[in-house]
Amino acid sequence: MKFHILSKQVIRDSTTLAHVIQTCAQTNQLNKGKQIHAQLICAGHTLCTTFLTNHLLTMYIKCGQLDDALKLFDTMPHRNLVSWTAMISGLSQNSEFSEAVKTFSQMRMAGETPNQFAFSSVIRASVSLGSIELGKQMHCLALKCGLCDELYVGSNLADMYSKCGVMGDACKVFEEMPCKDEVSWTAMIDGYAKNGDCEEALLAYKKMVCEAAVAIDQHVLCSTLSACVALKAYSFAKSIHSSVVRLGFESAIAVGNALMDMYSKAGCMGSALNVFRSDSECRNVVSYTSLINGYVEANQIEMALSIFVELRRRGIEPNEFTFSSLIKACADEAALEQGHQLHAQIIKFNFELDPFVSSVLVYMYGQSGLLDHSIQVFKETENPTDIAWNSLLSVFAHHGLGKDAIKIVERMILCGVKLNEITFVSLLNGCSHAGLVEEGLNYFYSMENTYGVTPRSEHYSCVIDLLARAGRLKDAEQIICSMPFEPNASAWCSFLGACRIHGDKERGKLAAEQLMRLEPENSGVHVLLSNIYAKERQWDDVRSIRKMMKDGNVQKLPGYSWVDVSNKTHVFGAEDWSHPRQREIYEKLDSLLDQIKEAGYVPFTDSIPLDMDDSVKEKLLQRHSERIAIAFALISMPSGKPIIVKKNIRVCVDCHSAIKFISKVVGRKIIVRDSSRFHHFTDGSCSCGDYW
Ligand code: ZN
Ligand code: ZN
Repeated sequence: MKFHILSKQVIRDSTTLAHVIQTCAQTNQLNKGKQIHAQLICAGHTLCTTFLTNHLLTMYIKCGQLDDALKLFDTMPHRNLVSWTAMISGLSQNSEFSEAVKTFSQMRMAGETPNQFAFSSVIRASVSLGSIELGKQMHCLALKCGLCDELYVGSNLADMYSKCGVMGDACKVFEEMPCKDEVSWTAMIDGYAKNGDCEEALLAYKKMVCEAAVAIDQHVLCSTLSACVALKAYSFAKSIHSSVVRLGFESAIAVGNALMDMYSKAGCMGSALNVFRSDSECRNVVSYTSLINGYVEANQIEMALSIFVELRRRGIEPNEFTFSSLIKACADEAALEQGHQLHAQIIKFNFELDPFVSSVLVYMYGQSGLLDHSIQVFKETENPTDIAWNSLLSVFAHHGLGKDAIKIVERMILCGVKLNEITFVSLLNGCSHAGLVEEGLNYFYSMENTYGVTPRSEHYSCVIDLLARAGRLKDAEQIICSMPFEPNASAWCSFLGACRIHGDKERGKLAAEQLMRLEPENSGVHVLLSNIYAKERQWDDVRSIRKMMKDGNVQKLPGYSWVDVSNKTHVFGAEDWSHPRQREIYEKLDSLLDQIKEAGYVPFTDSIPLDMDDSVKEKLLQRHSERIAIAFALISMPSGKPIIVKKNIRVCVDCHSAIKFISKVVGRKIIVRDSSRFHHFTDGSCSCGDYW
């Protein structure tokens, strides 16, 4: 159709002209539309009817020319319902929300009654403006105009209430709607899920599937899957997966990511990987990060790293979440080598200044025993956030550097950083590990009044630990009796541990009884209690506890230690005979024992709660996993490099003493990270000052 020369015949025929303008709008031919507009003006006023101008108005809006549309709208001598509605929706669609609302009021002042489309545009605008008041006014007005039953008005109202978190009103609107469409169902399910009312979200989804013949869209699937994750309703979530496949949404990025997230959280990494692989090509950085996160949570750091390598190979740029997740994994595993490599990548991608990434780096180096690196990364952080400060503080606390922890807190106060709950947990822990009782108590008693942080049960546990370690068992007991919460297991655990160290049998038994009530399956309690009896050489009691553990199916957590040697992690259990170099390892252990005995080491056989010969106990102690790991590191690592060993449970009294001597006789720095803290052994002494 030729537009540029309009015959008189065509100009006389408004319907044909309207059709031509409509075609311009649909095919986005702005210039041709403008030519027609110009010709119409030349042809004289009589032809610029409201009917045709409305078509021009819509054409300008559809072609994205909001300014031209507004100009035309302002010069219109007569505006009808169609003109007003077109302008209001045009403004709302182009994110000119306040203008849309203003035009709506002008329309009402002009005496025009809004239709359902004008209403739904303004209701959507009120959501974007975050004004529930405006939304409510629209609701009242729509009721007055009898338009609430209209589909568009109803579903937008339900959407508005649910997005503003007023689920009660959203429900009411929804229930009153005569025919509910997918928009309103989505609004409800989405609203419930986002407002944390996940059970309602699942119920709504089930209802929608059973009762309503509406199409399920991607949005609904994503919201429902996230609700399932929150409720840990994994079997239901898996049934949604089959709907996803049936509806052909598996390769939709958002749905795929939601499925992967669900399987990762459920610990089904195989299924998560299957979803990922079902259409690897369309996966983005969010999909990769979600999978990496899943592997990190499942402690499969190797897999997490290999997914990262794949992401890089595909040329996808990692983001700060990808790096934080991987670095956190390296911290938890103390996988220093990989951590170093990732740090290089972080610099390459310019994330080293990201407050989140840099604070995880501080934590990672700290957890891996490299305190200097940790401090260095912190120093390089410009304007460290409270997260970074707290990261550094927790590192000092973990390393038992209580005095430094206090200095950090003083600097935080000077720099105007607000101390929070995490700050006080680290600070009190640091004081506790360094035996700084008075300092710790002072901070504890001033945290609420001076710093506005209400002590929680973790803080009470720290203080109980602080007092108990220092041997002030009576004071610790007083805190336990007067605290506003029921003491948790970790409080009793610290108390029990201290009772064992200080040989307080009566209080120890009380603590053990409480602990067994709180955590009947916790093997640590039984072991600690039997240690108390063993120290008193009450072998009958020891045996009865052992029997209790056996009857109650309580298993002692097997201790194991691991050490990284030339990029490979070697894991050892107690009495471990499985390593290919085991003969050399045991020869080394024997020669070490001779050397340290000569230097003054006396085996502390009391730490084994069994009625057996001391020479047998000595052998058992010598085969504790951390010592095997150290012996292996000594025969396989170049001299001079510090040895870093990680252990899953607390290092025992005897090993602690033996390692002190080993560090002296071999002249090596040995760092042991056990379940409670770091021990830096150098030249015969430990950084914990024998407090742990
Ligand atoms: Zn040991
Ligand atoms: Zn130590």
